[in-house]
Amino acid sequence: MSKFKFEHNLKKASNSNNIKDAKSEWVILSDELRDSSDRTCICQHKIKYTWHLVNKINGNIIYVGRVCLKKFQNISTDYNSLFSMYFLFVNA
Ligand SMILES: [Zn+2]
Repeated sequence: MSKFKFEHNLKKASNSNNIKDAKSEWVILSDELRDSSDRTCICQHKIKYTWHLVNKINGNIIYVGRVCLKKFQNISTDYNSLFSMYFLFVNA
């Protein structure tokens, strides 16, 4: 189901083929909390609110919705960190 697609697609975009290591490769690049109905999450669900994540190793960029963002435990907000953390807190 969606979990499979999430992990499958994330591993495709990551360097590591291990889901735990793959998740650690990503940091939040920016929040985009306005409506973005043309966007699709990496799990292939349509998403209203989009976070842009960037891979620290290969520079890939992916889009995730709020639900899938939570699958990245301890994801760092290296870029725009205060801004990102504020919105993560507000939308938790
Ligand atoms: Zn998703």
